[in-house]
Amino acid sequence: MIRTIARFSLLAIAAAIFSNCNNDTVTEGDYPIQPVSFNKVHLEDNFWSDRIELNHELTIPYAFEQSEKTGRIKNFDVAAGKIEGSFCSIYPFDDSDVFKIIEGASYSLQNRPDPELEAYLDDLIQRIGDAQEPDGYLYTNRTIMGDSAHPWAGSRRWELVHDLSHELYNLGHMYEAGVAHYLATGKTSFLDICTKSADLLVKDFGWGKEENYPGHQEIEIGLAKLYRVTGKEEYLGLAKFFLDVRGPDGTEYNQSHKKVVEQEEAVGHAVRANYMYSGMADVAALTGDREYMEAIDRIWNNVVNKKIYITGGVGSTGSGEAYGDNYYLPNMSAYNETCAAIANVFWNHRMFLLHGDAKYINVLERTLYNGVLSGLGMSGDRFFYPNPLKSRGQHQRSAWFGCACCPSNLTRFIPSIPGYVYAVKDNNLYVNLYISNKAEMQLAGKTVNLEQKSGFPWNGDIEISVEPEEPSRFTIMMRIPGWSDDEVIPGDLYSFADPAPGEPEIMVNGKKVKYKLENGYALLNRKWSEGDKISVIFPMDVRRVRASEKVEADLGQVALQRGPLVYCLEWPDQEGKLALNLMLNENPVFSFGFDQELLNGVGLVSTRGYSLRAQLDGSIEKEQVDIIAIPYYSWAHRGPGEMTVWIPEDDEYASPLPAPTIASRAKVTSSECSGPLSTVNDQLVPEKSFSKEYGHIHWWPKKNTTEWIQYDFEKEEEVSGVKVFWFDDEEINAGCRVPESWKILYKSGNAWKEVDAKNDYGTARDTFNELKFTPVRTKALKLVIVQQKDWSTGVQEWTVN
Ligand SMILES: [Zn+2]
Repeated sequence: MIRTIARFSLLAIAAAIFSNCNNDTVTEGDYPIQPVSFNKVHLEDNFWSDRIELNHELTIPYAFEQSEKTGRIKNFDVAAGKIEGSFCSIYPFDDSDVFKIIEGASYSLQNRPDPELEAYLDDLIQRIGDAQEPDGYLYTNRTIMGDSAHPWAGSRRWELVHDLSHELYNLGHMYEAGVAHYLATGKTSFLDICTKSADLLVKDFGWGKEENYPGHQEIEIGLAKLYRVTGKEEYLGLAKFFLDVRGPDGTEYNQSHKKVVEQEEAVGHAVRANYMYSGMADVAALTGDREYMEAIDRIWNNVVNKKIYITGGVGSTGSGEAYGDNYYLPNMSAYNETCAAIANVFWNHRMFLLHGDAKYINVLERTLYNGVLSGLGMSGDRFFYPNPLKSRGQHQRSAWFGCACCPSNLTRFIPSIPGYVYAVKDNNLYVNLYISNKAEMQLAGKTVNLEQKSGFPWNGDIEISVEPEEPSRFTIMMRIPGWSDDEVIPGDLYSFADPAPGEPEIMVNGKKVKYKLENGYALLNRKWSEGDKISVIFPMDVRRVRASEKVEADLGQVALQRGPLVYCLEWPDQEGKLALNLMLNENPVFSFGFDQELLNGVGLVSTRGYSLRAQLDGSIEKEQVDIIAIPYYSWAHRGPGEMTVWIPEDDEYASPLPAPTIASRAKVTSSECSGPLSTVNDQLVPEKSFSKEYGHIHWWPKKNTTEWIQYDFEKEEEVSGVKVFWFDDEEINAGCRVPESWKILYKSGNAWKEVDAKNDYGTARDTFNELKFTPVRTKALKLVIVQQKDWSTGVQEWTVN
């Protein structure tokens, strides 16, 4: 088997090497541009190397440990009949997390030999193989549970693949992992499991057989990879089938609302979408299908012009974890799943390999340093699922998730980063990312070694030493990052408010050279000899970015960017320990400094601005303050509090701290509940009762009980009314409803007395319920709440007049 596979592999690689002059023409074979494989690029920097090391030492073992603890790995043993029991974890797609971690471990092994990890993988792969049914079917939920499989699984194999069974999704991840393990170790143990599984798919699916598509795309990418190492045309054909059979009678949620080649706009679940666009790029490259290419070009243009955050995050709405409408890019409720950002890197890399334009790498770099990296805590074992651009402290990274797609995706993505640095085509070498490394590559049949020294992301000094095995003529194409010029993101969604620092100077062997710019690259064509040195400085000025006026959420505000990093204001760095009530000066001057001690070493941006606070008479007090910004990726490591990427530059769009009120100054206590008590008197009121935007408290899962909240005032106050905004999440089918009844008590001496109400105690949703009563002088009020028999309740805000 080893020999056969090795031969196929060589054939596939040979097929991939062909010459093609026009970047826009896809010829049968593979991508016209080929990445220099991650195992040929050894990072030697202080930024990514440390993270790859941490991923190897901590995140990979941690993710495997979590998979063992949560039953994800035990499922394989139960399915194999080695131990008795039921399906031990929650979701039928839990198998996929184990596959993704194996994929990450394989990448990691290639650069860091680790016999213990390799042996662990050998054992785990054996256990996965034992769980595979004799004909190749692998899906632990059904194998274990048979007729009582998860409701998403359907009553027979493949019945609900187009819906939620995730049978094909799991397998796509398995194929990616099997290929990675084979390429890293040369062992075919996992690859054999994959081909046995894929052969079953070939037998079961296709025109005239099961004509159904995956409800969660991923199998397309997996099959393309499996095709590349095995050379089996059926796998490529099946990948194309799964795309062609999709739509038009399905849903936008999983992009089956139209035939894939007719789609024009990024819609629906963002991870599903970006995996599909990546799969379409693979099939377009491998088959030369022009319609696929035109479709993903259209969709990409829609995303970069209308649907992407400045962090490279995509998927703006939590409802369906989906792309929102054009220009709908809210900041606090931004969903921006970590997996969607990773998938955005996959997709943009593939677009680059098809077209050879730096604009795709510009999006990739932005996503990598911002939208992806924020998902991973510095400790290596804390993760964000959504990555918002604004917070009141309600967002913190978690240790793991019931749905653990994001941690396992990061585990596999981080060690693959070296594979995004370089690419080659004929006599051309693309330098895409600036990260210190030593690399070896083949260029026009000759070996070329490169050593890159880079100060990214903190400074833009680059030096590249070129060492061809013999002097030869080729072109080194240096990407001119969009941010060093006038491009924030290709298209007109964002623009720099400050001018570009000027065209970078490129020197070869100490002499300034004239270069041609093409597709965002500086072309350096010459006869290169050992010892030649390229140096360039990309000036990293702090620059303000404005969003298109069509993006309502960003009106009157700017974001700060320096080099590839997007910055944010976080509470601990500000004088008042708040970030959302700050505003920049009219013509802000920025300074930059590196703080070795802070957040594992980060570059800080400082400027002056205002802290705004409303007064009781309605006026706004503006106080000059220092404002400090940190890289967005590094926020949420110092406890809950405010953060914002977009900063007001205009009074009209600023958010002054509200003037203090009787309620906001009161001490809050309550019967046992969930959520921060400070949210009931923080003067932040949502539009909807089910909103989670400003935080709320609730008594779920308690029902049919009497609960209370109490305000203790600093001194006796005369009060004559209250307003209550209830938390009620019927709209999203969750467990809280407005209460059965409520009343207001006031403290009279040591006794509690009910107020003399002048109107009804209201229980309307999505609005304040005002109660007026005969004025009383008191030091405390109590809101007593009787919950409905079958429902819990909660409170968004309680004010006192
Ligand atoms: Zn995820």
